[in-house]
Amino acid sequence: MEVKELSDFIDRTLTKGRYPALNYSIRERVFAQTLKISEEVWELSEQISWKFWWQRLDKVDKFSDEKLGDELADVILTTVRLARLLNIDMDKILKQKIEILRERFEKEN
Ligand SMILES: [Mg+2]
Repeated sequence: MEVKELSDFIDRTLTKGRYPALNYSIRERVFAQTLKISEEVWELSEQISWKFWWQRLDKVDKFSDEKLGDELADVILTTVRLARLLNIDMDKILKQKIEILRERFEKEN
């Protein structure tokens, strides 16, 4: 899946329906979405801490590779959604970023 396809999916689905934030101003929606990314990063951190045994044994059984993957996907989805709210073309930005990193890698190696 390309980022453009993901952005189009978000435009078609997550910007409609049962989300109370749809009634908020763009400023409020950006703030709420930024908080949502923090929530998803925290859920990802929990899965990582359970996978590598940084939690008590009675909590470790909450981990699964499937849940870890879900949380990684949530971080990406919420980030792309924030980009849509800010009118940032993530497909273009990621291509530029990859080019910068590729050039840096080639200089260093
Ligand atoms: Mg989540």
